[in-house]
Amino acid sequence: MSPDFCLDWPALRDALGRGEQLREYPKSHFTTKAGAWSLVKDPVTGDCAWVLAAGGAKEPLAEGVTLGDGRQAFPATYANLLTLKNLVQEADPGSTIFPTANEQVGRSTLGIGARFTTLHWPAVEWAMSALDLGVTANQNSIPRELVFDVDAMLAGNLDTVPFPFIGTTVPEGHQGQSVEGMSHGSILSKVKTGFHRRRIAWSFNADHQPIGGKFDTREDRLVEGCVLASYITFDLSPELAKTVVPEDAAGWVKANVPADLVQAVRTRIAGFDLTIDERAFAELLASVWPAMQKMKRRDEKYAAARARLFTTDVGRAYLRELSIDELPGLTTPETTAIMLALCEVMGMRIHFVAPAFGFQKNMPYPDNTALRGLIDQQWQICRRFDASIGFHSGSGKSAENYRVMGEATGSRLEIKTSGRYTYEMGRALHESQDARDAALWSDWYAFTVELAVAGAFSPDATEQKMARSFIADALVKSGRSADVFADRQATRAAIESLERSPEHMFWFEYNFLYVLAADGRAEKAALGDHSPAGYRQRARFYSISDQARLGFAKRVASYIVFLAEHTGLAPAERCAAARKRLEAYQEFAALVEDISR
Ligand SMILES: [Zn+2]
Repeated sequence: MSPDFCLDWPALRDALGRGEQLREYPKSHFTTKAGAWSLVKDPVTGDCAWVLAAGGAKEPLAEGVTLGDGRQAFPATYANLLTLKNLVQEADPGSTIFPTANEQVGRSTLGIGARFTTLHWPAVEWAMSALDLGVTANQNSIPRELVFDVDAMLAGNLDTVPFPFIGTTVPEGHQGQSVEGMSHGSILSKVKTGFHRRRIAWSFNADHQPIGGKFDTREDRLVEGCVLASYITFDLSPELAKTVVPEDAAGWVKANVPADLVQAVRTRIAGFDLTIDERAFAELLASVWPAMQKMKRRDEKYAAARARLFTTDVGRAYLRELSIDELPGLTTPETTAIMLALCEVMGMRIHFVAPAFGFQKNMPYPDNTALRGLIDQQWQICRRFDASIGFHSGSGKSAENYRVMGEATGSRLEIKTSGRYTYEMGRALHESQDARDAALWSDWYAFTVELAVAGAFSPDATEQKMARSFIADALVKSGRSADVFADRQATRAAIESLERSPEHMFWFEYNFLYVLAADGRAEKAALGDHSPAGYRQRARFYSISDQARLGFAKRVASYIVFLAEHTGLAPAERCAAARKRLEAYQEFAALVEDISR
């Protein structure tokens, strides 16, 4: 949660000074012009320090102490991490300790939502190493899923996010971790496991950065918090939602959008096989122009923050994604073309664009021929801008769906996945033989049953309809009748007759809310709780057994292998070999040991 990975430096400094046996990560070594570095952790408190070998430069980081043997130690603070990034990248621009905007991850990648942070990264690192494939190894929506500012959280100033399917709002940052803490943790993980020795570039996507609307007032904190992200997704929907298109759109465009810019957009798409109706063109421009100006302003801020903090080109570079799948309806090729042309003439190179294909989260797309047609149309536009296609809500599609996405784009794509990994945690706990894991699974399942039953009898029409559909799906798939909504007792009895399985849709849909529910309570007021009660609950997941850790890591890694194979990002033989190695692990430590190979 904290941006710092050393909370009590005086205590750790003294322990180092006394020469106490702390855990030095044997694979963490790297060098900069300042000397040879390694990472050390106090196994009891978890506090970390960077240790510089004797003979190194004097005080390259802040708050250092010189030890009796001439080594220097520095606390693993966020401020020191920023300095270290410069030292590392000045010495070695190809270093893969930090996330970068490497060319390959800017063309073809998988977006891996890091729902369980330290439990999750080793699995992703293992998969990248085994496949020799860099991916978007850290991804989360900010401020929706991640706390954008720890101080705002501590002051009780987080906003709320509406969740119509549960008929309530939940505080933003509902996964509990902060963006700065997660940035820091994902980097330390690479050094601890020795992933950086494989020299595979990876990226960190600050997903769905909201542009405009109510987010204007805190955009500087959003920019500051995401400074270690090497990949920014721009989500224009907050500003689009409040933009009213004037009756005379053409007149408005003439008065408000620079004529040379409008002409440049027309010229850029002139040779394309599109039917652009003048009225629709003016209406689209009028609807997006306020948002585009704000996107440009925000983009300048992301660039300026990096220019201020980082000294190297590789350290300052970031990828851009334009998310337009939040616009109503399926995205037309005309809309994609105009949006990409606008970004280009405004000086914003777009690496990924996310049109709407009508995907439902965790549902296969029913018609592969239709899907290919939709993607083909979009790809004919994207390729002319050298942009790849971002597939949002990408979890849970069929192998054939992924193959179509890969083939239709020549693997110039990103599949974004996130909710899938919470499901994989449920499966790992469900299968574990450990008593504490079993208790966590049982409580987690019961939590979703309570939310489902309450939702099925909610006065809120949307909540009721959704809850009933989730319950009915689970019943029908288990060969039962879905006619169980006469009263609560009947509904509860029907659910209780089912095996407690992570395959039930009601568990799937409600599960993520359990992670930060105050003391695990299935009450709306308890959800997304950023007080100690919420974090006590979250800590249960971080104290699962090694058996569950191994099960979770295997499942996450095997899903990445599956995606990489079917999208064509990695050759089938390499995927088969990776799968075989993965199945053989009996110990979590063995999997982690193999990351650095
Ligand atoms: Zn999106």
